[in-house]
Formats: sequence, structure tokens, C-alpha cells
Amino acid sequence: MGNWKMHGNLSANAVLLADLRAGAAHAGACDVAVCVPFPYLAQARAVLEGGAVSWGAQDLSAHAQGAFTGEVAAGMLNDFACRWVLTGHSERRAMHAEGDQLVADKAAAALAAGITPVVCIGETLAEQEAGQTHAVIARQLAPVLALGAQAVARVVLAYEPVWAIGTGRTATPEQAQSVHAAIRSSLHDLGVPGVRVLYGGSVKASNAASLFAMPDIDGALVGGASLVADEFLRIAAA
Ligand code: PEP
Repeated sequence: MGNWKMHGNLSANAVLLADLRAGAAHAGACDVAVCVPFPYLAQARAVLEGGAVSWGAQDLSAHAQGAFTGEVAAGMLNDFACRWVLTGHSERRAMHAEGDQLVADKAAAALAAGITPVVCIGETLAEQEAGQTHAVIARQLAPVLALGAQAVARVVLAYEPVWAIGTGRTATPEQAQSVHAAIRSSLHDLGVPGVRVLYGGSVKASNAASLFAMPDIDGALVGGASLVADEFLRIAAA
């Protein structure tokens, strides 16, 4: 899954989306998706519909409608046939003060509209250095798991150590696997061990295969490298 963040314009997107549509036909059996800025959802749908690449948004409101200036409701994402929506990306947690409960509320709003939330969790560098990785992950996951097994079975999780996002510093496959194994164990305890858990943080074509070789890493959430069609398609192929 690509996360374009706040990048793109109509003409550049047209090329990137067309290249993805053409290239993903040969990307193998995995799901390939892009989460684009809200104004480009119509364009993503127009180019991608009927092909192998699905699309989604990068955030949504926890509310269904109302006086929430600037926010976008899950029902609005449905108008653009979004299959996915990110919730709790670390940039939203850090820059927009999104807390763990709000992130879970947003995931619930997406599920209520039939959209799959991709719930992002991950520790900061300071938390990692303080040995708090597993505690932070457990804290962030708690309100999501509290949605219950039926809901969580329809969620995708993305473990994204904040220190690895956009920094070029990827977690080693073993580091990532150790956190993914802990997440899997929580999912197992809830009775939903099959939930997909993506890794995110400077994933590139050159490191994707070694990350995907880990037993509990089911795919990737890709920022920078999702803006280059060939690079992103090589990650999908991996
Ligand atoms: C992201 O935006 O979720 C991300 C992982 O970014 P990057 O791949 O650029 O580190």
C-alpha cells in the first residue's frame, strides 16, 4: 500500500496512476493500493477502476457528518469507492494531536461505512531508546482491540516505527519481526490471528524481499517509494 502523503498534482498523478495500473497487472497475487490526498480520489478512481490497484484516503473523521470544518466523513470516501483509509499515521498523531482512542474511533467509523481501516502504530525514537517499544504498541493497540474480534478481523494494521519513516533508516527484518510477532500474539489472543500486519518505514525495492521473508510481515505501507511507479511495483512484486 502506497501512502502518497501530501504529494502530487493532476498531471503527475495521471502518469503515476496509469503506470501503476499498467504495471500492477503483472505484480502477482498481492493486493496493491494507493492512499492519495482527498482531492485526487476522483482521479484515482477514474484511472484505476477495473484494474488491479485499489485506492483509499489517508485519514477520515470519526464523525458521520456535522459541523466539523475541514474534515471528511467515511460516507464521503464511499462516494469515491475507497476500499481503504489510513488511521493514526504517525504524522497525524504527532502533528494533529491524534490520540489512541481517536484513532480507534476513526477505525470504527471506517468499518461502519464498509471501508477497511489501515491502523498505523509505532514508537518514536525516544521511546525505542527507552526500551518502551512493546509497551507503546500495546497502548496504541488497546482501544483498537477493544472494538472486538468481529471488527478487528476486518482491520489491517501497519507497524511503522516513527524513527524509520522518511528517514532512510529501515528497521532490520529481525527488529520488525519481533514487534510483528508481539502484535500477532495479541491478535491471536483475540481470536483473529489472520489480520494482515504491514510494516512501514523506508521500505524500498532493495529491502522489501528481506522484510517480506519474515513470518509475521504481511506487506508494506510505503511512503516515498510509492511515488515512483517502477520502485513501488518492484516492492509489490517482492
Ligand atoms: C509512511 O508514510 O507511512 C512511510 C512509511 O513513509 P516512508 O516509506 O517514506 O518511510
